[in-house]
Amino acid sequence: MNGKAEGFRAGPVENHREREKGALVYPVYSRRSGGLSIGINLFPDRKSCSFDCPYCEVFPFSRDITFSTTLMEEALEDALAGARAEKIPVRDISFSGNGEPSLSPHFAGALETAARVRGRRAPEAALVLITNGTGLLDKKLYDLLRDRASGAAALRIWLKLDAGTPDWYARINRSAVDYDRLTGRIRLFVTEAPADIQTMICAVDGRPPPPEEAAAWEKLAVELAVSSRGRIRSFQLYGKARPAPEDPLAEALPAAYPETRAESLRRALKAAGANAIPVEVFP
Ligand code: SF4
Repeated sequence: MNGKAEGFRAGPVENHREREKGALVYPVYSRRSGGLSIGINLFPDRKSCSFDCPYCEVFPFSRDITFSTTLMEEALEDALAGARAEKIPVRDISFSGNGEPSLSPHFAGALETAARVRGRRAPEAALVLITNGTGLLDKKLYDLLRDRASGAAALRIWLKLDAGTPDWYARINRSAVDYDRLTGRIRLFVTEAPADIQTMICAVDGRPPPPEEAAAWEKLAVELAVSSRGRIRSFQLYGKARPAPEDPLAEALPAAYPETRAESLRRALKAAGANAIPVEVFP
């Protein structure tokens, strides 16, 4: 297996499964990107994550393939050439895949390479890291992400913040990483670097987030917005839209629910003088 996605299928398809077939690079139609996203998968052999979200879409798999930056570069060049040939604009090149990208020892090198290929082949495309934020606990990674997130052609960081309380965090992210330690690093990071905050809103074990969780999350979101002094680019609230191996442990909520949360956050941001930050919903 060479780590490439099998063929270039760039339409509005659900082909996240390519990454479980060992693809290092996989084209996918992304709701949040609003078009074609070229995903980079640093874990072609097995899932590797510091979270264990019940809504996680990565199905159990194992492959006899090792990540290589050279193979990734080739596959990325091919995917961008495929998009160009089909005249499909590439919205972003995104580090996502089967786990938390910043955990990979290849992450820093792969980031350099992807930035170089993007500059050469698709300068209009954003370069995105989708992260659960646990990499921010490592000083070297923290510094790398802070430095890469600023300036022209910067890395866009989509930072997960699913919970406003340790209780909900224990249910929706099921991580050994301490909640207060993690949110402490996120609080610091947004005072130093731009980021988009992403929140999954779904029911877990038949229950939606309780009112005290929703209130605590909103309070934290507003505090982050105010202290970031404009560095937070957006809040993205998204719902469960794809199958997950643990279904039905996590379940989609009616579309009106995330919209209500978004509306409440917009009002709170306005009251705090931070209403320039968009709050988007992807039910
Ligand atoms: S952080 Fe992402 S990859 Fe990790 S368990 Fe959660 S959804 Fe899955």
